[in-house]
Amino acid sequence: MPEDSELTLGIDLGGSKIITAVVDPQGEMLSSSESITPTTKEREALIQSILDSAHHALKQAGVAISGIRAIGVGAAGISNPEAGILFTSPNLPALRNVLLRDIIQERLGRKTFLINDADAAALGEFYFGAARGVSNFIYVTLSTGIGGGIVIDGKIYTGAIGAAGEVGHMTIDENGPNCNCGNRGCWETLASGTALAREAKNRIAGGVRTSILEYAEGDIEKVTAQAIHTAAQQGDSVAKELIARTGYYVGVGLANLINIFNPELIVIGGGLSTIGDMLLKPAFKVAGERAFKEAFQAVRFASAGLGRNSGVLGAAAYAFQEMKEHSSE
Ligand SMILES: [Zn+2]
Repeated sequence: MPEDSELTLGIDLGGSKIITAVVDPQGEMLSSSESITPTTKEREALIQSILDSAHHALKQAGVAISGIRAIGVGAAGISNPEAGILFTSPNLPALRNVLLRDIIQERLGRKTFLINDADAAALGEFYFGAARGVSNFIYVTLSTGIGGGIVIDGKIYTGAIGAAGEVGHMTIDENGPNCNCGNRGCWETLASGTALAREAKNRIAGGVRTSILEYAEGDIEKVTAQAIHTAAQQGDSVAKELIARTGYYVGVGLANLINIFNPELIVIGGGLSTIGDMLLKPAFKVAGERAFKEAFQAVRFASAGLGRNSGVLGAAAYAFQEMKEHSSE
């Protein structure tokens, strides 16, 4: 192996932000650059933003691109890591059916690997976070949607074409709300931050008395999961009930995952999960009622340990892992 650099460049390409970092094998970030993902439909403009972010992170770390061993890109959307292609990405319309891996590799001149962003976050938790030393676990991110990554025997499970782990799109209610994916009643239509806000808006529009609006500038359109959480913390009973209801649906999905995968650990991350007990206590209760008793007793739950950096650290770790694997072939 002629290359002795141990540094990788991680790129977390999300629908709302791009986080890029130079990372060492211990998961230390030598730099971190964050920018807003442009809402452009032009492929070249979006790629340029990714490259800008990469150059910024390199400069900040004082590292030349030649000092980087490999690049890992965790991108929002359905991707095939083998082919390096991003198929569909509702939040990144400019990158539909794009060979993103090869484009980044060509432009930056370093070996590049592509992975789904939630899979990257799962790997981040596996190498550096709450799942260190655990070889069978599921990472679930409760956010505006619900994402997931499945790690089996220490490897991310990607499925036939790389689309595995889309836990947010398991059907929970066959007649439930329409989902962005085209299905209805998906887990994320019932248990995400978006679902929580939607239910609150429905209640408010229906004339229910609640203080939630006070935390949303009096504007029903500005009702967010955060506003509902704040109202609940102030004792608002409607807000508390809405969060418990969301927790109930979180638990239904967790029970399914427990029965299918019998994981040692479920790591829960994402902005909505920071609500904590008010959401998760009812979730764990329902999961315990619905899952097989033995499987439920065998699972531990943990909060994501890396916060917003799980994706970028995981993308960097993925590059490192793949380089190691390929060098020993
Ligand atoms: Zn769906």
